Amino acid sequence: MDMPTTQTRATADRPLDGQVAIVTGSTSGIGLGIARAFAAGGASVVINGIADQREIDRLCSECEGLGHSAVYDGANLMDPVQASGLVSNTLDRFGRVDILVNNAGIQHVSPIEEFPVDKWDAIIALNLSATFHTIRAALPGMKARGRGRIINVASAHALVASPFKSAYVAAKHGVLGLTKTVGLEAAREGVTCNAICPGYVWTPLVEKQIDDTAKARGISREEVIENVLLAAQPSKKFATVEELGALAVFLASDMGASINGTALSVDGGWVAQ
Ligand code: NAD
Repeated sequence: MDMPTTQTRATADRPLDGQVAIVTGSTSGIGLGIARAFAAGGASVVINGIADQREIDRLCSECEGLGHSAVYDGANLMDPVQASGLVSNTLDRFGRVDILVNNAGIQHVSPIEEFPVDKWDAIIALNLSATFHTIRAALPGMKARGRGRIINVASAHALVASPFKSAYVAAKHGVLGLTKTVGLEAAREGVTCNAICPGYVWTPLVEKQIDDTAKARGISREEVIENVLLAAQPSKKFATVEELGALAVFLASDMGASINGTALSVDGGWVAQ
């Protein structure tokens, strides 16, 4: 069992000292930003996602240099057994899970009449069902210890829709419903469950959908960025993975104890409209 080496009291600059965190989909983008922020905050971090071994080794040693320990678990979260296995492997290794971040997600952009059925199934499996499977596996230990933090990276699309994203919008609305339900079920046991709802953040996931959106709407890449992505975002700026990491650290810290069952928008004002 790789128990965290020091069980020191959380301080203002290391608010997660001695905690064990799983961050799904943390080999890239927002999840990586959150994993880095958790490691800098003093947590031991379980990194998950798809990447080659050299990149995995690099990310683990980077996070380890910031925190207590960083390990990689390559669970494919489309598979319910591997999703709950990510939690049970962490329990075997560290003895507990203090923080669970459900972040792994994929997107597909297409009119609903042409939306491929396998893409619908994959988006629901990863963006919604995996969140259920990991929470189901992690919650009993959190409740037994009287403390836990569950953070689901949802989206502005958990609150509002956009055309051509039927599976993603359905999954993210589902994630927010799940978040509220878990928040209610676990509130008395010191466990919180919240959804972070980013607007557009410049990551590989966004980059990949630009061409599909251009095709679906018959416009150029530049027009997609200006008139589709940032059209919704009144700040006219992409949110950053560092901003999302800082919010996740706050939610996971002792200071986040009374924030529960809610959606926190990081979208430059998008859903205020
Ligand atoms: P990304 O593509 O950069 O990262 C996705 C991560 O998920 C990667 O680590 C990838 O390896 C992992 N992953 C993919 N399939 C997996 C699988 N089967 N099992 C385990 N891991 C898998 O994407 P991102 O933009 O950082 O998005 C992260 C989350 O944030 C997603 O849930 C996404 O819906 C949400 N989000 C992103 C934005 C944005 O603008 N980027 C906005 C709102 C919400």
